[in-house]
Amino acid sequence: MTLFRKPIPVEEAVKRGMEVQQITKEEMVTLEESAGRVLAKDMYAPHPVPWFLRSPYDGYAVNAEATKAAGENSPIWLEVLGTIGAGDVWEGTVEINQAVKIMTGAAVPKGATAIIMRELTLEEVREGKTYVRIKRRLKDGENVSQIGEDMKEGQLLVHKGTFINAGVAALLATFGYETVPVCKKPRVGIIATGNELLNLGEELQPGKIRNSNAYMLQAQVIRSGAEPVYFGKVGDTFESTVQVMEKAMKETDLVLTTGGVSVGDFDYIPKAYEALGAKLLFNKIAMRPGSVTSAATAGDKLLFGLSGNPSACYVGFELFARPVIRTMLNMDKPYLQKIQAMLKTDIVKANPFNRYVRSKLSFSEGRTYVEPSGRDKSNMVSSLAGANCLAVLPGGTRGWEAGSIVDVLLLDDQEGMAIWE
Ligand code: AMP
Ligand code: MG
Repeated sequence: MTLFRKPIPVEEAVKRGMEVQQITKEEMVTLEESAGRVLAKDMYAPHPVPWFLRSPYDGYAVNAEATKAAGENSPIWLEVLGTIGAGDVWEGTVEINQAVKIMTGAAVPKGATAIIMRELTLEEVREGKTYVRIKRRLKDGENVSQIGEDMKEGQLLVHKGTFINAGVAALLATFGYETVPVCKKPRVGIIATGNELLNLGEELQPGKIRNSNAYMLQAQVIRSGAEPVYFGKVGDTFESTVQVMEKAMKETDLVLTTGGVSVGDFDYIPKAYEALGAKLLFNKIAMRPGSVTSAATAGDKLLFGLSGNPSACYVGFELFARPVIRTMLNMDKPYLQKIQAMLKTDIVKANPFNRYVRSKLSFSEGRTYVEPSGRDKSNMVSSLAGANCLAVLPGGTRGWEAGSIVDVLLLDDQEGMAIWE
């Protein structure tokens, strides 16, 4: 086996992963359960909204015709027949010289063609009858929410592949959808490799470290919309690595390993790929951190070999695995949303390769700023907790000055981008 690996550009690595055919499965869940999931079908409006003429204000429902002669100096008085609140329906008809007091959201009574806001009127009781004073002319339909004004019957409400946020939940509830077709969460297997790894509850021992990547990846998988399936940690032996990978491949839709992917004496992922008959998609990428990030296909399963270095593992997941998961979820904008921001600090670091720096955004005086969320070394965990984006620093430069505009990939965004650019 040769130790030399030819680096490919990041976009080429992304493309190779995305070219692997993925299938999406659907399931029905209750509307309550659908928050945070992804719609599997286009959803249409089964009826218009509003579906009856509605009052947008507290006021009086009148016949506009009656106000023809009304003006600042020529008030008219209409008899108020009664009051309706939201949810009530006025049984009678409003005649030309009559009005019905109406509350926001109530159905406009028959015969009424306009609403006047309560603030513009005056009410008076004379000889046991209530009258309302109107000092302006109303147009037909004025202040009446029309049928279908918000949404027409049969209209496309939300596309399949849409992330169900609070607004989408409100929209679906408006039409009474009790259950919602969503994409099944892809099951993403996670395997941590390394003799040095301790489980969470274990005491520190000389030379050992806690396995943080497994938990980081589980959180990343959840954030991407998928379901993590953790297969535990495996020691640096060929047999156990192959064994757990075979199991993970059987039980999940996509397999992530962390560690053991480089050229070290105890890095068994490349050999495991061979033993599993996997076809290598890439094993070296022109980027920092995570240049050893690898991917392969075995049967119809995609395997990502992420670096063991925490930051490299983090970045590798977001750049390569996340868009695949989003595709499995039928989302047509699978890539991280890219924006531009101004560097807040100098970053002095010469590098031939693109750098993806764990960073955080800030906003001030109409500008978006970005700065590293901690020290930028791939073995550092501390910079991960504060990161809400990755600053993209193109390779081939000696460093970057505060004030320069750089690309930034958003990590907590649900919108995404349709293409990688
Ligand atoms: P490797 O990619 O296996 O060569 O590991 C690279 C570095 O990352 C080494 O310092 C490992 O100890 C560390 N590392 C590997 N796996 C993990 C993990 N699951 N959690 C935290 N650090 C890890
Ligand atoms: Mg290792």
